[in-house]
Amino acid sequence: MDYQPRLEDIHQLLMGVLDAPEQLQTLPPYAEVDAALMQQVLEEAGKFVGSAIAPLQRVGDETGARFGAGQVTMPPGFRAAYQAFWQAGWPALACAPEDGGQGLPAVLEAVLYEMLSAANHGWTMAPGLLHGAYECLKHHGSEELKTRYLEKIATGEWLATMCLTEPQAGSDLGLVRTKAAPQADGSHLVSGGKIFISGGEHDLSDNIVHFVLARLPDAPPGPKGLSLFLAPKFLPDGRRNGVVCERIEEKMGLHGSPTCALRFDDATGWLVGEPHRGLNAMFVMMNAARLHVGLQGIALLEAAWQKARGYAQERRQMRAPGATQTSLIQDHPAILRILTTQRAWIDGGRLLAYRTAIELDMLKHHPGAARRESAQRWCSLVTPVLKAAWTNQGFHGASACLQVFGGHGYVREWGIEQIVRDARVTMIYEGSNEIQAIDLLLRKVLPDGGAALGALFDQLSAEDTLPPAVLQRFEQLRSLTVRLARAASYRADLPYWVADDFLQATALALLGWAGARIGAGLPHWLAPARALRTWVLPEFALRLQIIEQQLNDTETGAPAPAAA
Ligand SMILES: Cc1cc2nc3c(=O)[nH]c(=O)nc-3n(C[C@H](O)[C@H](O)[C@H](O)COP(=O)(O)OP(=O)(O)OC[C@H]3O[C@@H](n4cnc5c(N)ncnc54)[C@H](O)[C@@H]3O)c2cc1C
Repeated sequence: MDYQPRLEDIHQLLMGVLDAPEQLQTLPPYAEVDAALMQQVLEEAGKFVGSAIAPLQRVGDETGARFGAGQVTMPPGFRAAYQAFWQAGWPALACAPEDGGQGLPAVLEAVLYEMLSAANHGWTMAPGLLHGAYECLKHHGSEELKTRYLEKIATGEWLATMCLTEPQAGSDLGLVRTKAAPQADGSHLVSGGKIFISGGEHDLSDNIVHFVLARLPDAPPGPKGLSLFLAPKFLPDGRRNGVVCERIEEKMGLHGSPTCALRFDDATGWLVGEPHRGLNAMFVMMNAARLHVGLQGIALLEAAWQKARGYAQERRQMRAPGATQTSLIQDHPAILRILTTQRAWIDGGRLLAYRTAIELDMLKHHPGAARRESAQRWCSLVTPVLKAAWTNQGFHGASACLQVFGGHGYVREWGIEQIVRDARVTMIYEGSNEIQAIDLLLRKVLPDGGAALGALFDQLSAEDTLPPAVLQRFEQLRSLTVRLARAASYRADLPYWVADDFLQATALALLGWAGARIGAGLPHWLAPARALRTWVLPEFALRLQIIEQQLNDTETGAPAPAAA
């Protein structure tokens, strides 16, 4: 039971609910992108994913990436699939034609990566950072660097990495110690140790382009002293650069993706962007990656749901209420509840993620400043919500899908336990979910007293006639935000205590909106719509209650919770 893309659903959401072609055609680069072209691209992508990538899911997990003598050998079939992938032009889908790309909208790339992650999360980690690396180099690289590397990265002929983490520097990148020493020819010698680098070494592509955060000699301490460097595995003259893979991690899942400890030993690198502004340059890469990690959560949930539904349609146990003979387990209310609940999260998440990808294109290409501003607001507020809430659901929902198999889910045979193991890391990397919650509440919502969030709700309310329950959730969050901003002015730690609840409440408010927008747009939506209303959205009130309780305590001067 390999994953198979459900193209009809994707098509309905993109064309029927979001009017993607009409929206995108207002942007000069996509004037020619119509529904037929989008459908054709997605059908071809679906065929490639289903035939070339999904069959490698099991071998990626069981054989895994292997390390020996500084080299990483990828699981059988991975290199051939990668070569076929880039040679068919898939990584270049949304890159500009002048860089060797196909110039198609970001939303097509988003759907492609969703399908790839559902089919084979481990394999997809390798090309997963390409687009971010491309955008980062395009916007911040010197002409010389772009001439040498931009097309290779755009086409995917060479893969890229993002080297941030060090043993002492995880969420807090201000603690990065890797150094960069300027050389007379304008290059730098980069030295230091990085850990947890996805795809830091492998045999998929002929070169690997590392994007490394490091400190110049005159760097101030903290995050404002970080600069970004490009250091390839092989230098332009063909020599091996001083980048050594010391080991790969043994881990819970994602065995098809080598998680590398890299040592930079006077490796030659070139500055990308301005000195000490490395985080700024890297954020381009990280923001693209965060949407994609949110999509990984949706993708893994879809893969788990497909397996669970297939199993529930065949397995018979006991009699369901009202039945006269042994029933399929899908007819037992408890199992139906699991399946329809996950379906609601998947389709609602897709609508939000696809819309976010469309907004990314609006931000880049729309001629009107006001429209670009609303797109910026959307991306800034919705991206952390998607990343955190849908990776959380990706893991917990996949675990619920495993439950559908009973004991058969806990053994390897059906492949569902692999999805649960693989999904866990999405809650941790690309900024852990706790960091996403802080980003949302403390950096994006509270500083303007909730004005941007309120403007987002206004925009959604003006676009459609929404059901009263959706509007009420918007209003409740709006007034809660005002109260929180006031309380935070005299109890600064309060928002940190409630950030996760606030993010989850925002996710549920947006999921309620997505559910209303999907309406009759999906043929199978009736049961998930009921699941959404009955079992998912009531959590909104609980999250609000948790926040309100702490607000009440603060307003009456009760002490903060003690340390564990
Ligand atoms: C499989 C895998 C692949 C990875 N790929 C890459 C990669 O390609 N490149 C790369 O650079 N890194 C990569 N990482 C590293 C990843 O980004 C980090 O693990 C992550 O940023 C968290 O850092 P940490 O593990 O040091 O945890 P810590 O930062 O030590 O955090 C530990 C816990 O404390 C919480 N925490 C920390 N600070 C705060 C705070 N201020 N408020 C609330 N909670 C907080 C965290 O959420 C977490 O729960 C990868 C990791 C894994 C496991």
